[in-house]
Amino acid sequence: MNKKKKLLTVLSPKEQHWVGDGFFVHTLMGPGPDLYPAISPFLLMDYAPPKVFTPSDKKRGVGEHPHRGFETVTFAIQGEVEHRDSAGGGGVIGTGDVQWMTAASGLVHEEFHSHEFTKAGGEFEMVQLWVNLPASKKMTKPRYQGVKNKMFPRATPADGMELQVVAGEYKGLLGPCETHTAINAYFVDSTEDGELSFDFNDQTNTLILVLRGEVLLDNKEYGPKNLAIFEREGKEVTLKLKENTKLLVLNGEPIDEPIATYGPFVMNTKDELVQAFQDYQSGKMGHLK
Ligand code: MN
Repeated sequence: MNKKKKLLTVLSPKEQHWVGDGFFVHTLMGPGPDLYPAISPFLLMDYAPPKVFTPSDKKRGVGEHPHRGFETVTFAIQGEVEHRDSAGGGGVIGTGDVQWMTAASGLVHEEFHSHEFTKAGGEFEMVQLWVNLPASKKMTKPRYQGVKNKMFPRATPADGMELQVVAGEYKGLLGPCETHTAINAYFVDSTEDGELSFDFNDQTNTLILVLRGEVLLDNKEYGPKNLAIFEREGKEVTLKLKENTKLLVLNGEPIDEPIATYGPFVMNTKDELVQAFQDYQSGKMGHLK
C-alpha cells in the first residue's frame, strides 16, 4: 500500500512587489534556511498573477544581474518573456512555454517582456522558480533550455483533465526539460471537477501552486496563489480539483546540504558567497553586449 504524503503546510501570498518594472510578484517561498528542508531542491518561488500591461515602446523587466549556484526556471503562463545571458543563452518564451536556465558557475542575464508583447500589451502571468544545484554541480557550465509548450507530453488522468509533463516523468511520459537532480514538474488543467493522484518517491518534497480554480486538501478549499507543501514521508498525493482549475505541480529529491544565500547567489558556505560576489564584481561572470 502506498502511504500518503501528509500535507505539511499551505503558504498564502504575502504582499506583491516589483521585480524591475515588468514582474509584479508575490514571493511565495524562500530563499532561506528555515523552510529549505521542506522545499529542497527548490529555493524560491515568485508568482506574478495575471496583470494587464498597456502597449508600450519601453522595454519592461529587469536588466543585467548575476546568478551563481542554482537554476532559474521561468514558466510563462500568459504573455512572453525574453532572456539573454552572458553564457550565450537566450530566447523568447511565450504562453505555456518554459525556460530552464542553469546559472551554475555564474553568468549575468536580463529578463524582459518580449518586444512584441510590450508593443501589443496584454495580460501577463508568470512563475519564476529557483532550483538548487548540489555542491558538485554549482561550479559547472551554465546551460539554457527554452522549451515550447507543444513539446510537453500530455496525459489525461481524468475526464476533462490534462497533465503536461515539463520535467521528469508521469506514467511513462518523459518531460523534455533536463534537470541536474531528480525533479518532476507538471502543469495540470481541469475543465471539470475531478480527482488526481500522484505516486511520487518516498522522501521527496512536493509543492503544488494553485493558479486557477480550487483544490481540496484535508477537507479545506484552496484558491489561487496558495502553495501547498507536503511531507517527505510517503508516496501518494491525492487532490480533488474543482472545474476550471490550473495547477503547477513540483516534486523533487531533496538536496540535503547547507545553503548560504545572498541576493542572486546560492552557495553552500559564506566564503563561497564572498567569492561569488568578488567574481561578479571583477567581471568573471561576463557582461551582456
Ligand atoms: Mn534573474
